[in-house]
Amino acid sequence: MSKPVAKSFGGGKKPSERPSKICPVCKKPFTWRKAWRNNWDTVIYCSERCRSNAK
Ligand SMILES: [Zn+2]
Repeated sequence: MSKPVAKSFGGGKKPSERPSKICPVCKKPFTWRKAWRNNWDTVIYCSERCRSNAK
């Protein structure tokens, strides 16, 4: 559990190899984006809109 966080998560990989998640609101899969490179682990929803629709 003391592993350092990868600096360039997703970097140098093919787009098809990027991680993806399913948005719990719209039930659609979404893939890793550069904007999330620092907080991908905490990203749950595909968009701000879905996040605000969550509750
Ligand atoms: Zn969504």
